[in-house]
Amino acid sequence: MASAAGGPWAAALQLRALFYAVLPRESSFRTLREVPNYVEKSIPFFVGFIVLEFAVSWIQKRKLSGRINDGISSLSLGILSRLPDVLFRSLDLISYVYVWDNYRLFELHWHSPCTWYLTFLGVDFAYYWFHRISHEVNILWAAHQIHHSSEDYNLFTALRQSVLQRYTSWMFNLPMALFIPPSVFAVHLQFNLLYQFWIHTEVITNLGPLEFILNTPSHHRVHHGRNPYCIDKNYGGALIIWDRIFGTFEAEDAKVVYGLTHPVNSFEPILLQLRPLAHIWNMFWATPGFCNKLSVLFKGPGWGPGKPRLGLPEEIPVITGKEVPYNPSVPAYLNCYAVIHFAVIMDLYIDLLATVTMLSQGTILLRTGVMILSLTSFGLLMENRPKAGILEIIRCLIFLGIYKLGYLRSEFSFLDYSYEVLFSLCIAFWVIQTLKRSTSCTDKHD
Ligand SMILES: [Zn+2]
Ligand SMILES: [Zn+2]
Repeated sequence: MASAAGGPWAAALQLRALFYAVLPRESSFRTLREVPNYVEKSIPFFVGFIVLEFAVSWIQKRKLSGRINDGISSLSLGILSRLPDVLFRSLDLISYVYVWDNYRLFELHWHSPCTWYLTFLGVDFAYYWFHRISHEVNILWAAHQIHHSSEDYNLFTALRQSVLQRYTSWMFNLPMALFIPPSVFAVHLQFNLLYQFWIHTEVITNLGPLEFILNTPSHHRVHHGRNPYCIDKNYGGALIIWDRIFGTFEAEDAKVVYGLTHPVNSFEPILLQLRPLAHIWNMFWATPGFCNKLSVLFKGPGWGPGKPRLGLPEEIPVITGKEVPYNPSVPAYLNCYAVIHFAVIMDLYIDLLATVTMLSQGTILLRTGVMILSLTSFGLLMENRPKAGILEIIRCLIFLGIYKLGYLRSEFSFLDYSYEVLFSLCIAFWVIQTLKRSTSCTDKHD
């Protein structure tokens, strides 16, 4: 059905995929192997739309739509969340194919438009319940809350995803595996995710009659709010009808203040992933009684002994409108430094995606290790931590070392030839900075 033509036609289809504006005949495939990786192919469009959002926001409000520290943090979390896919097939697909192969009741035709539209509804319905339960069950919230940890709302936030959430969503799709072919499911799983990219913006205010059916920027702004009226509302993926049907819809009203009710105040990606789990672990052991301990895991994040399942609404912190996002001040050069080095890691990530089938497991692991170390170091630099320079020296040395050994070289990478010069200069810079800092500390003590 769908052809594999390239060029402008393919680019236009990829662009439309971001808005779910694709026809069944353009996106139906006989086998799972034929299904394109629409998410990976969207990376250039993500970048293009982020630049466009910056421009429109500047024209509308004389204000940029994002901050460097928060943006790098969101993109770092986005890269981290996709790294397991480099090594393993997604659990969503593994479990789906297993149920389809062993337990399917009947087969809908993969090329029928009816199957396509039914899967569109089925994937979105499953997403609604997965998303709702991810907010209402503490152990699942620990994974999902990373997406809500930004205090900005822009297209960077769309890419702020959890590593762990990928391992909690699979079970909600399994009923469809009883009758919908995996190739159709794999297409809609990606389109549903891609649709949710463009709705993370403040530059689109209202879409008129479309607001009644579709999940829109306005509806999703409410979902990301920490104002009491926004809590546990608007869980929809592509459609808002599920929220209207199941009573979780709320229209945008007072100015939305974004983020978690208790902000994490960090840009460090590993800490952002693990801190909620540490919190649950501590609460689990601190709460007396076996049933209460189970409730810590399976009731809402606001639950405590004697409280209703989802906690007490009056305990949600009041919004004054004077909330200030976490924004440690750093010198301008450090922002430039972080942007340049993040671009290097993005290049390495895109290159890894393009060459993964040609690389050994050892090389893949080494490259992912360097990426994780780099993103951690950028987080600490953006927080202006005193010891961040030392970690950055170590990171640059490791990067340069494994580059010299040939593990990072690739014909696809456009920055390859400048790596040696760039990293040597950076090591020298951070050694001088660290020495300066330690000398000034010694002087103060004297
Ligand atoms: Zn959510
Ligand atoms: Zn969101």
